[in-house]
Parts: sequence; structure tokens; C-alpha cells
Amino acid sequence: MKKYVMFINFLLFLIVITACNSNSDDNQDNHNSDQNNNTALKVVIDPGHGGKDVGAKGASGQYEKDFTLSVSKKVEKLLEQESEIQVFMTRKDDSFISQESRYRPKYANNLNADLFISIHGNTFSNPNVSGTETFYYHNHSRIFAQIMQKNVVQATGFSNRGIKKENLFVVKDTKMPAALIEVGYLTNPQDESKMWTDDFHDRVAASIVEGIKEYQVKV
Ligand SMILES: [Zn+2]
Repeated sequence: MKKYVMFINFLLFLIVITACNSNSDDNQDNHNSDQNNNTALKVVIDPGHGGKDVGAKGASGQYEKDFTLSVSKKVEKLLEQESEIQVFMTRKDDSFISQESRYRPKYANNLNADLFISIHGNTFSNPNVSGTETFYYHNHSRIFAQIMQKNVVQATGFSNRGIKKENLFVVKDTKMPAALIEVGYLTNPQDESKMWTDDFHDRVAASIVEGIKEYQVKV
């Protein structure tokens, strides 16, 4: 009889221990997932133009809006693999977004995003002009623009036109560090032919992700 009582006590002890352990696991899991949501860097990717706003018409006749969407989608895919980053897109398809609505900066501000990156292809009347450049507006965006420019120009291999402060509403109206990357000149036939390859889009997308990570470590 004594042995039987001891056995029952032992069983009860095991049940209590197991219940305690599973409770503490649950708490830890909840805690971790809360923490991830709170600390993840919110990044907004803004594919320039869209719909009837085709952007620049490249030397070959292709549109900037398709270039920006292709690169942006690749950035989105890469960022989705990063546990510390939450990615948001101002457009995921060929939607038209009116400039007057100021939707792009509003979208990022409403999300309380940490970073905003607008992706574009450049245009100029002289087809010889080429290179990569990044625009910013507020002083708090300067370092971010510098880091993005450094990484993207390495990926494009085009001449480095540097960063420029410019009164563009997407980088001016956004409250968080914001950069508008002009990846290359679609009006330059040599550059444009490279800019439409899948490999080029992959490299540029990877360099944007590297830039975000570099900024994340520095700030
Ligand atoms: Zn553009």
C-alpha cells in the first residue's frame, strides 16, 4: 500500500512538472513573438510609377514602371527571408498611383515605417549620360542615402553620380529616413541593355538588401 501511494505521488509530481514546463514554454514563445513584432525593422519599398504613369521610356522602348516593379519584387522576396525585417510595398502590380494623392509617403507614415526606399530608372535627353545616383531630402536621411548609393553602385557597375539633396515629395513627405535610388539611365542604350537582364535585377535587389542591413547595424 505504501509503495502504491509513493507511486501515485510520483505520478502527480511528474504531471505537475510537465504542466509547469509547458506553461513556461508557452510564455516564452509568446514573449518571443511579441518581441519580434516590436523590434522588426519596417521597410517600405516603393516601385516608381505604375499603370498609365509609365515613367521613363527606355532606349529600347520598354517602360521604367516595369523595371522598378521587377527590382522591387525581388527586394521584397529577399526581405521576406529576414526575420528582423518586415517589408511593405506601395504597389505589387501595375497599379496607377496618382502623385496628387501623395499616397506613397502617406502609406509609409501611416505604417510608422523605419525606412523608405523608392526605386527608379533615370532618363535624360542626352543618351550618353549614364550612372547611378541616390536622392534624399532630410538630413536624417543622408547617411541612409550614402549607404544605399555605395551598395547599389557596386552592383550596377555604372559610374558613381553620388547622392543629392532634392525636393522630391516621396523623400520629403516621408517622416523616416528615405532614399530614392535612380539605378541607372534607361535612356543610355548600353546601360539599358544591362538593366533589363534578370541577373542585373537580382544583383541590384541584393545590394539594396545589403544596404538596409548595413544601415541597421550602424544606426
Ligand atoms: Zn522614375
